[in-house]
Amino acid sequence: MNNKNTITSLALEGVQSLVPYKAGKPIDELERELGLTEIVKLASNENSLGPGPKVMAAIQQTMPELSRYPDGNGFSLKNALAQKLNVSMDQITLGNGSNEILELVARTFLTPELEVVFSQHAFAVYPLVTQAVGATAKIADALNYGHDLTAMLSLVNENTRLVFIANPNNPTGTLLSAEDLKKFISALPDTVVCVLDEAYFEFIDSDNALDSISWLERYPNLMITRTFSKAYGLAGLRVGYSVSSVEIADLLNRVRQPFNNNMLALAAAEAALADEEYLAKTITVNNQGMQQLTSAFTALSLSWIPSFGNFVSVDLKQEGMPIYEALLKKGVIVRPVANYEMPNYLRISIGTEQENQFFIDALKEVLIESS
Ligand code: PMP
Repeated sequence: MNNKNTITSLALEGVQSLVPYKAGKPIDELERELGLTEIVKLASNENSLGPGPKVMAAIQQTMPELSRYPDGNGFSLKNALAQKLNVSMDQITLGNGSNEILELVARTFLTPELEVVFSQHAFAVYPLVTQAVGATAKIADALNYGHDLTAMLSLVNENTRLVFIANPNNPTGTLLSAEDLKKFISALPDTVVCVLDEAYFEFIDSDNALDSISWLERYPNLMITRTFSKAYGLAGLRVGYSVSSVEIADLLNRVRQPFNNNMLALAAAEAALADEEYLAKTITVNNQGMQQLTSAFTALSLSWIPSFGNFVSVDLKQEGMPIYEALLKKGVIVRPVANYEMPNYLRISIGTEQENQFFIDALKEVLIESS
């Protein structure tokens, strides 16, 4: 059995044709490749402020316990989340990033006979988890880069078991209103589980805020996923969660690994949740940075998709990949989105004022050099 193809042919059909998730280029990698010393990474929608002091203190305090297993039920973090969100603890499922929750949902509910509905330009993990379990993805065309809920509903049939909606969506940053979402969920058969992915929830401005958690009482087939990776600044520790009916949470709990969140991550997430000052600063820096970047795009006669997240996708009116490569040479890592059927766009995560300026200066130079 030294023939690689023989082994490959043994895998699930979906896995054989699966293209792995392509993450933003790590800073170390670019350093190694180009020997650059000044690198700005605006590629993975991370929090540019770094972890807050309360998080660092919680990690320090937890370190002596590291020879023990973590609390596999995540009692303390779940308790804090339950209080903050006004739900019961048994509605919460913790994941190794919200990514893990997306995978748990697929493993819990899908078989190769079943279908999953999501939107064109939606987060890349939805097709990945669908294909990995051999289920069929039904992809609705987007409407102005956002989710077209009417088109999505028209793809729902008796084989549909899951719907993924990212709100705001990554990489487009588009947002659906509470009214439209509720209408959509109401119209879904109760045999379809609706995953509302709110990874960027904390960045939604108050005029557009939605209280999706309060809808759970009405829709037992709804689940909401959120994360500590973005606004809470803990991408490196991998903590996300879902809030759902107790029944769904119970099912996910059967499938997950017993210790899927490590001890430092649990402690850090709890500290981050309590640090309102850090969250407020994050939102302020994000709003200012969004203004800074979009003003620069206007000055460069570039348009962008209005974004409700901590990133913005800009239309370069030419292929994004060569611009991405040229930016790398200047020490700036952003995100190409050709794999999202957006070949002329690049997605820029909002950074600090200095990071944003470094990117803007590099972009100006690259656009001049490429014209
Ligand atoms: N959902 C969306 C829409 C995202 O953009 C991301 C991160 N890129 C995630 C989920 C997963 O994030 P994490 O696993 O870090 O919680």
